Amino acid sequence: MKFGGTSMAGTERIRRVAGIVKRQQEAGHEVAVVVSAMAGETDRLVNFCREANALYDPAEYDVVVASGEQVTSGLLALTLQAMGCKARSWLGWQLPIKTDDAHAKARIEEFDSEALLASMAAGEIAVIPGFQGVSPDNRITTLGRGGSDTSAVAVAAAVKADRCDIYTDVDGVYTTDPRIVAKARKLPLVTYEEMLELASVGSKVLQTRSVSLAMKENVRVQVLSSFIDENAPAADTLPGTMIVSDEELANAEQEGSDMERQLITGIAADKNEAKVTLTRVPDRPGAVAAIFAPLAESNINVDMIIQNVAKDKGETDVTFTVPQADLVRAQALLEERKEAIGYYRMIADSNVAKISVVGVGMRSHAGVASTMFKTLADRGINIIAISTSEIKVSVLIDTDETELAVRVLHTAYGLDAAA
Ligand code: ADP
Ligand code: ASP
Ligand code: MG
Repeated sequence: MKFGGTSMAGTERIRRVAGIVKRQQEAGHEVAVVVSAMAGETDRLVNFCREANALYDPAEYDVVVASGEQVTSGLLALTLQAMGCKARSWLGWQLPIKTDDAHAKARIEEFDSEALLASMAAGEIAVIPGFQGVSPDNRITTLGRGGSDTSAVAVAAAVKADRCDIYTDVDGVYTTDPRIVAKARKLPLVTYEEMLELASVGSKVLQTRSVSLAMKENVRVQVLSSFIDENAPAADTLPGTMIVSDEELANAEQEGSDMERQLITGIAADKNEAKVTLTRVPDRPGAVAAIFAPLAESNINVDMIIQNVAKDKGETDVTFTVPQADLVRAQALLEERKEAIGYYRMIADSNVAKISVVGVGMRSHAGVASTMFKTLADRGINIIAISTSEIKVSVLIDTDETELAVRVLHTAYGLDAAA
């Protein structure tokens, strides 16, 4: 069971969570619980780091931001104990959850579940702070924002859990963020691949890595709400969203239990990207490599890339997006290499949003992209960049137009819930 930030926000909420956990144990299950920091806490800690040093050392950043989960794991264990349950916390370094040393976005490498399983078998509820691990040289790492989902899936895989229930503040995965579009519909089933694409393009209901890990390790993941009644039944009968394989989806479709599925499964928006343009880059082999190699070495993920041939021969403008959180570092790296790369000017812009439509149905249907472009054009929304995959089309637009774009696309692809 994993509980997110809103579910853990304060003593009263934690008591609710403890109640849900206790009921699950009483239903005869052995449970491990992964918790997030209280809502807003990680943001607060990140801000302290920024204030202390804009070009902060990611290893020290991890020391600071991992602390939020340490607090909630202890508090949940205490609350469970107050309710008469046996419970204890297991910090990342105690389990240990071993990761690589890519601080602030570490990957889990190894996780020995022996001690955890023994404690669970003895009737103790294991409470594990999400988001944190330990590097090969014994320093605290964190798994990237939203990383508690990945901790939960990793624990589920390691203990060979029957299911990984991700409790959050919405009762499932919707066709788009239900907080932005009131007409969003809850999806009973979403395939791993679709969820992977949706998460990677901004549906932060699950962290992307948690989905790829679940897919690789065959973990059954369910998304459901922790904002439930004291007397609600245990999770096995609560309607959430199940993440399933293509096969399971096909079976459900045949049985008619997933009738309302449209060509597009979901729409996502991501305001956390920033656009960087380098003007007048020499148009010769190796020029683009000179831009992206240093970013890659510093673990900065580049997403959309466009290269335009400039008016003057022999030069091109290169535009790309990076996570906003990495923008300052990216700019510093490129500034240092201005001479070597040979560009003229660097222009950065954080006022962009990436809007994506995702669906496995795209594989067998033409016209998804053109519907997107036409719908946005009809509203006068300008497209700055485009990228596609087999089951996704993304466009970069002005941030101010995010909500409008998502709403008109949601209607255009027939996703609106009946009024
Ligand atoms: P937690 O703190 O529980 O991890 P998050 O804030 O990370 O919660 O994720 C839940 C939020 O994800 C919801 O409140 C919702 O606003 C947002 N969200 C974005 N896209 C979707 C979607 N397609 N379906 C459901 N929720 C979504
Ligand atoms: N607390 C961390 C964050 O806000 C991890 C998580 O909640 O998943 O990113
Ligand atoms: Mg989350």
